[in-house]
Amino acid sequence: MIYFSRPDAVWDGKSVHQVRQNLGRELAREYPAEADVVIPVPDSSIPAAIGYASESGILYNDGFIKNRYVGRTFIEPTDSLRKRGVALKFNVINENVLNKRVVMIDDSIVRGNTTGPLIKLLKDAGADEVHVRITCPPITSPCFMGVDMGKQDDLIAHQRTVEEIRKYVNANSLSYLSLGGMMKAVGSADGYCQACFTGEYPLPVDLETVKTGFEKGIR
Ligand code: SF4
Repeated sequence: MIYFSRPDAVWDGKSVHQVRQNLGRELAREYPAEADVVIPVPDSSIPAAIGYASESGILYNDGFIKNRYVGRTFIEPTDSLRKRGVALKFNVINENVLNKRVVMIDDSIVRGNTTGPLIKLLKDAGADEVHVRITCPPITSPCFMGVDMGKQDDLIAHQRTVEEIRKYVNANSLSYLSLGGMMKAVGSADGYCQACFTGEYPLPVDLETVKTGFEKGIR
């Protein structure tokens, strides 16, 4: 819900925008970086990047311009479509990253096939270093509550360690916010599903279930 909610939404009396800023602040406390600029992967990571920049004292700036006519890449149906989606979806503002050590803030890494291309775009634009900071813990288990992440084997954090993911995406460093830090930013752990981070589901699930099994019956 943190990722799909509108920024002006309020749940449990907390503004989604403020919670996202808190996530960035916690991330800066847990995983500081030696860098020149903090940039978000737009749009949902913008408040977290502002929070990270504010807490760390590193300049915030835009690094990517997003084509608003291309949807979220991690829910595209195939790997090649997802990779093509990144190239179509983002342009880099070269002068904001040229010869700079960049902290790139993103809200999640699901399959890991958008993070690498984004880092490559920044390095091709002249960034000296790209330090990736993610505002949630590694996603190791699929969602059965409605977020289309694919199967467990599709999740890069199910297959690889954080260091292996760092190498795979070619980041200079990679860190994920801890579950404790995430819940601190949200304000409470009570009543929130954490299953994709912990594998502990709030209801019985069959890990072999795949959404395409249901979709085959849909005309
Ligand atoms: S598993 Fe739970 S926390 Fe993860 S996306 Fe689904 S509903 Fe949200």
